[in-house]
Amino acid sequence: MIQRRKPSRSKEKPKQALTKSQLPRRAPAVIALMEMGVNDYGEIAYATGLTVADVKEIDAAEDRKIRRLATQGTPAGTYLPLNKPVRCPTCNGMVTMAPCVACDRRWDETSVEAPVN
Ligand SMILES: [Zn+2]
Repeated sequence: MIQRRKPSRSKEKPKQALTKSQLPRRAPAVIALMEMGVNDYGEIAYATGLTVADVKEIDAAEDRKIRRLATQGTPAGTYLPLNKPVRCPTCNGMVTMAPCVACDRRWDETSVEAPVN
C-alpha cells in the first residue's frame, strides 16, 4: 500500500490538541493543582498549557494511568513545573510549581498533616 503524505502549505504546524496518549504525561501537574485546591478548569488549563477539555478529561480520570495517578496523589517531594504561575489557594502566593512548595514546607515544619479536601 502506498502511503501518500498530504502536501503542507506552510512549514508551521497547526496547533493540535493533545492526543490521548499525551494526556497522562501532563496529568500529574493537573492533579497536583487540584490537590492544592485549584478547582477552576480554566485556571488549571492556563497554568498547565492544556485546554479546558483536556483538564476535564484528566479530571474525569477515564484513562487507567491517570486514574492511578489521581488515586495515589502526588508523591511527597515531587513538584511539577507549570507553564504559567497560579495563585495558591492556601497561602495566596503565586506558584510556578505544583504542589505549592511554601505550603509543603510549612507542613513539614509544623508536622501537621496536609489538609484533605
Ligand atoms: Zn501555598
